[in-house]
Amino acid sequence: MTTAVAPSAALTAEDRCDRCGAQAYLRVELVSGGELLFCAHHAREHGDALKDIAARFQDETHRLTEKPTPVAD
Ligand SMILES: [Zn+2]
Repeated sequence: MTTAVAPSAALTAEDRCDRCGAQAYLRVELVSGGELLFCAHHAREHGDALKDIAARFQDETHRLTEKPTPVAD
């Protein structure tokens, strides 16, 4: 049952931002076949550039707004 991973599997706490290691809320599937993970901060920072190379976005940053977590950045 665990061999087939749905491409749209929800992001979990195991998924970490490739830039800073924070929990990832955006998964980007590249047209080249690779995959990148970003936290909300870096999703926002790199969003525009990613649109040019991304085949698909899985954006779960809305989950951040569901709980009152103050972000000190
Ligand atoms: Zn990050």
